[in-house]
Amino acid sequence: MPRDYYEVLGLERSATLQQIKSAYRKLAVRHHPDRNPGDSGAEEKFKEAAAAYAVLSDPEKRRRYDRFGHQAAPSGGGFDPSTFADFSDILGDVFGDIFGNRAGGRRRRAGADLRYDLPLSFEEAAFGVAPKLRIPRLEHCDTCGGNGSAPGSGPTACRVCHGRGQVQFSQGFFSVARTCPDCRGTGTVIRDPCVDCGGRGLTERQRSIQVRVPAGVDSGSRLRLPGEGEHGRHGGPPGDLFVVIDVEPHERFVRRGADVLSSVTVGYPQAVLGCTMEVETIHGTSSLKVPPATEHGSTFLLKSQGIPRVDGRGRGNHIVEVRLEVPAPRDLSERELEHVRALAELNEDGHGTAGAATREARSVLDRVIAFFTGSGQKTGPADGAKRAERSSEA
Ligand SMILES: [Zn+2]
Ligand SMILES: [Zn+2]
Repeated sequence: MPRDYYEVLGLERSATLQQIKSAYRKLAVRHHPDRNPGDSGAEEKFKEAAAAYAVLSDPEKRRRYDRFGHQAAPSGGGFDPSTFADFSDILGDVFGDIFGNRAGGRRRRAGADLRYDLPLSFEEAAFGVAPKLRIPRLEHCDTCGGNGSAPGSGPTACRVCHGRGQVQFSQGFFSVARTCPDCRGTGTVIRDPCVDCGGRGLTERQRSIQVRVPAGVDSGSRLRLPGEGEHGRHGGPPGDLFVVIDVEPHERFVRRGADVLSSVTVGYPQAVLGCTMEVETIHGTSSLKVPPATEHGSTFLLKSQGIPRVDGRGRGNHIVEVRLEVPAPRDLSERELEHVRALAELNEDGHGTAGAATREARSVLDRVIAFFTGSGQKTGPADGAKRAERSSEA
């Protein structure tokens, strides 16, 4: 017959949960096998304290123990394997703090983190969306409650490590603790595996989860959903779910951070005289004043017409680039061509610097045309052209 649990922990029967915890911690630290290698007396005391704690720290088990004594405990002499979990948590706390070796005493492993790549349209990323995702993940098996044993049976303490999850090796003066190879650190073995999960304690399920994606996310943004990852083995806590955003490109808009870029085309007359244009932004249309003498490639800012910042601090801007459209002669009507020719003749008559500027522009245009039609290739690559320029300067 085991010793009375209160006696083991040195407590009155009226002890509070806090007193039980602290008494157990004291004993666990004093008698822990890592600190008393090869001392079987200490090991026995350690296990005795753990068994007492396992029962007295659980209100339901304690009530039963108070009424029926050791007869109340389930099979296995009062060492209920289902409390291993809490037990290891306490140990993890105690020894994690004292020896700085958290991994050593852990029996429950957290489940794996999951990654879900979520493609979003340009607008969904800009304004936010709440899609329902279907996540395949490992969850605790309902049949066995996650412990991996067939109903009616339960995991039993590992015989190799006596439920500690670790085994001791002596190397010279040192004693080294290692994860038990038999139970792989869990401290328990499954004699009669659950048929539904094959003893893993986990089954694959489709989890449906609604994710609120805030406005302003961009490609590469990661949303972390704590606890939505896979469940851990042996009742271990779940991992996290990471939703990684991938924003599809837009036909007309380019995104740069919270700013949106787009372009408008104007003809030569509008560029010279200036005009007012309707510009499409993600918030609708906005009016843009193009000033006279606007050059090709000029940019204009539509303030706060961009994407909401993901931190909620206002919006980015919409940046409009003005492109000068130069039509091909065949795309112009005879009347338009007449006007263009008239304009060219007017300029070639040489109205001071304006005429010179136009001639220069025409020679630039000629070179551009030559390049695109391929006739420029005959004079050789860009290098050759540079050399020719240099020699003409000399
Ligand atoms: Zn199962
Ligand atoms: Zn073991």
